[in-house]
Amino acid sequence: MEIFQGIPVFGGIAEGDILFLAKDKRNVACVRVSNIDKEVERYEAACLAITRRLEELYRKALSEIGESKAKILDIYKLIVMDSELNESVKTMIREKRVNAEYAVSCATDELCQHLLSFGDDYLRVRTADIRDIAGKIIDELNGTARERSAALTEPMVIMADELKPSETIQMDKSRIIAIVTRKGSTLSHTAILAKTMNIPAVFGVNIRKGWNGRHVIVDGYTGLVYVDPDDKTVRLYHEKRSEAEDIRRHYSLLKTKDDVTKSGRQVHIYANISDPDDVDAVLENNAAGIGLFRSEFLFLKSQNYPGEEEQFAVYKSVVERMNNREVVIRTCDVGGDKLPGYLHVPEETNPAMGYRGIRLSLDRPEMFMTQLRAIYRASAYGTLSVLYPLVISVEEVLQIKKIVDDVKAELTREKQPFGLVKQGVMIETPAAAVISDLIAQEADFLSIGTNDLTQYTLAVDRQNERIDKYYDVDHPAILRLIKMIVDNGHRYGKKVGICGELAADLSLTEEFIRMGVDALSVSAPYILPLRELIVNSNL
Ligand code: PEP
Ligand code: MG
Repeated sequence: MEIFQGIPVFGGIAEGDILFLAKDKRNVACVRVSNIDKEVERYEAACLAITRRLEELYRKALSEIGESKAKILDIYKLIVMDSELNESVKTMIREKRVNAEYAVSCATDELCQHLLSFGDDYLRVRTADIRDIAGKIIDELNGTARERSAALTEPMVIMADELKPSETIQMDKSRIIAIVTRKGSTLSHTAILAKTMNIPAVFGVNIRKGWNGRHVIVDGYTGLVYVDPDDKTVRLYHEKRSEAEDIRRHYSLLKTKDDVTKSGRQVHIYANISDPDDVDAVLENNAAGIGLFRSEFLFLKSQNYPGEEEQFAVYKSVVERMNNREVVIRTCDVGGDKLPGYLHVPEETNPAMGYRGIRLSLDRPEMFMTQLRAIYRASAYGTLSVLYPLVISVEEVLQIKKIVDDVKAELTREKQPFGLVKQGVMIETPAAAVISDLIAQEADFLSIGTNDLTQYTLAVDRQNERIDKYYDVDHPAILRLIKMIVDNGHRYGKKVGICGELAADLSLTEEFIRMGVDALSVSAPYILPLRELIVNSNL
């Protein structure tokens, strides 16, 4: 048995076999080929397959996001068909008698170096496109364009150097019993996903590829990982699991209780979800509603912009299942660690402070309006509110409201039914916190995103595990800001909730009640422990 101490990210105990997810490396090794014609044919077939896929995507994008945004796919097609690039790949295969993957990689490098030598911004952006497409051709040649999760055929403990949120959301969660990684911060969206999916998680473990298939016990409470556990440890953890079962039974008695303190103060407990499947756990724990549906995961799961109908079907199903309990859908908050490739956002030095959240939505009105149309149409089927991420100014809120009015007018003209949708603003930047009195006058409610509010206030990148110790969640500056936002909201008769991870910090529940916070939105596993504190509070 080997024991490793990692960083506990989410509690729970799991025992099973390890599936090690190797890094998604592209095979561009140089291999001598004997049948040159066959190699050229293989290259041409790969280009043809990619061209067909791009044409299909272009048609879909044209009807859903409009010609100007779909154009990039056409540019991609031109790159694949580019005769200069094609010729140099084929010449290299013929003259150097090398495999197509290697020839594509070398020809791409040469072309990009040439374009970069002009020092022109437009050409620099195009080199990123060229590399992206070259990668797709290499994947096609390698036959590696598969999901890393394809090997997940039975419930297993996932181990990886690092797991991106987009990879995590695409896995079949019924087959993941724990997540263990080497890298990753406790505030990353992969960590948040583990919580919403109720999967024990430990980060910071020096995992090894050779562990693939070996037996393991993961203790998400302590961060301990036992590879090839001995009989004594297995027995000990069986006991611990039955204790955890007793605790679960104890909490289940709270399912039917109201979220009211002993003196009659109501503090709504809502749930955070990232996927429509999470609604099961929301209902199971009897939350008052969904306080944060991170809709961007729908975008991260797709290979291209999800269209209006696709989004509408998801929002409608969530709203219907919640049966008139409030559902707050946050508009697409991509950027930072959540960035689907098809958005073509150029690489940024500091993405947390970059092109993300509402900035991206306001900059891409077709994408934003498509999402708002889907949300508004779904509002006819229950109680739905909308929430806007990463706002820093009143001007942004006014701009959003104008777009919302346009969407409503469009739907009215089309005789599409929609309900009354409350407009919420996330207060997750220090700027929004400081002007929350002004924002409160324009919004229907405020929701405090403590994850980002903390990273921006304390200047601590939430993705950087090296500075995790500075990420002080109950720093007096954060608590003062929360109190200020609550007071500002109430001054204008608006409800104020917390939907960041701090809402689930049980050591602060009493303080939040004292501050007058109206709602706490947490991952489903925290609902009942939080309810216990609220119903037993004397405040
Ligand atoms: C937050 O920042 O607190 C929040 C709820 O949003 P996210 O964690 O998705 O950035
Ligand atoms: Mg945020």
